[in-house]
Amino acid sequence: MSELKSMTLPELTETLRAMGEPAFRGKQVFTWLHRGIQSYDKMENVPKSLREKLTQAYPLVIPGVARKQVSRQDGTIKYLWELADGNCVESVLMRYHHGNTVCVSTQVGCRMGCAFCASAIAGKIRDLTPAEILDQVIFTQLNAGETVSNIVLMGIGEPLDNLDAVLRFLELVNCPDGLNIGMRHISLSTCGLVPGIRRLAELKLQLTLSVSLHAPDSETRSRIMPVNRAYDVEELFDACQDYFRRTGRRISFEYAMIDGVNDHDWQADLIAKKLRGMSGHVNLIPLNDVAESPLKPSRRLPAFQKRLESHGLTATVRRSLGGDIDASCGQLRRKAMEEAQKGEDSQ
Ligand code: SAH
Repeated sequence: MSELKSMTLPELTETLRAMGEPAFRGKQVFTWLHRGIQSYDKMENVPKSLREKLTQAYPLVIPGVARKQVSRQDGTIKYLWELADGNCVESVLMRYHHGNTVCVSTQVGCRMGCAFCASAIAGKIRDLTPAEILDQVIFTQLNAGETVSNIVLMGIGEPLDNLDAVLRFLELVNCPDGLNIGMRHISLSTCGLVPGIRRLAELKLQLTLSVSLHAPDSETRSRIMPVNRAYDVEELFDACQDYFRRTGRRISFEYAMIDGVNDHDWQADLIAKKLRGMSGHVNLIPLNDVAESPLKPSRRLPAFQKRLESHGLTATVRRSLGGDIDASCGQLRRKAMEEAQKGEDSQ
């Protein structure tokens, strides 16, 4: 592992021990890294000789703020980070009464191809490293001057398509010597990669699993989410039932309401039938209009919600934050890419 910040505390301790350092040094360096130092020289309680060795062997990489937008409506802040190789990803800081939540990206782009999603348009460029996911939390806190109490893995990318890095990130962020954010304060959202859901079920993590359902029937789901052709919605429901049985944790099903596509009453009825026995929760999302997509927001949201509730399901409507700052689903990165493209075209 070439990045110090992607190492778990035992790994970091071992790496330093191999450099001739005492065991307690691991904890010291780990804590400094997770506080977001920008130079090893900031590590006051670490000998200068080690700081110099680390600077040589493990150059510190820090994401730069490529853009920052603050919503005038609700104080939501959106960051576009520039990574060491020039690629960009987004994070969003949302302020709620119960504390601050940061939404982080897990990949540069996404290869899942959902028809309604801005992140899918240009495909996946690469996976993020654990350190790059972690840095989004660390530097959002530092830049905004706010403490983050909750994390949602719902930014650009598919977390279960980069599961090893994501699991390592969870271990890092959970560590008492680092940010110390509890699993119950973390949500992970997936488009439905069944093997990943099964792996999470085995690990019995206490995080909240969100599943981007968006349609309960194969035909509609395959039309808007290509992943459904690899892992059919029936298989997905099976994996979700199993996840609930093993972990006892209630799954949140995300459902973006699309006009004339997934907003029919029979689809609400089918959702109720499929979620029976797992006390699932449906989160209805007003579709964000993505300019490149012909899909439009549904006007049936209240009726669909009532229909779900008539079956005894809990259905909430997601409060939309940051509507004035492109604060959703890869829109800011998309805009920056387009502007860069236009710049090149005009040269
Ligand atoms: N890849 C993961 C997490 C990233 S997307 C997943 O698919 O769950 C985060 C959420 O935003 C998902 O529920 C996704 O389906 C939803 N989403 C994407 N584009 C959207 C849009 N235009 N309007 C509303 N929700 C959207």
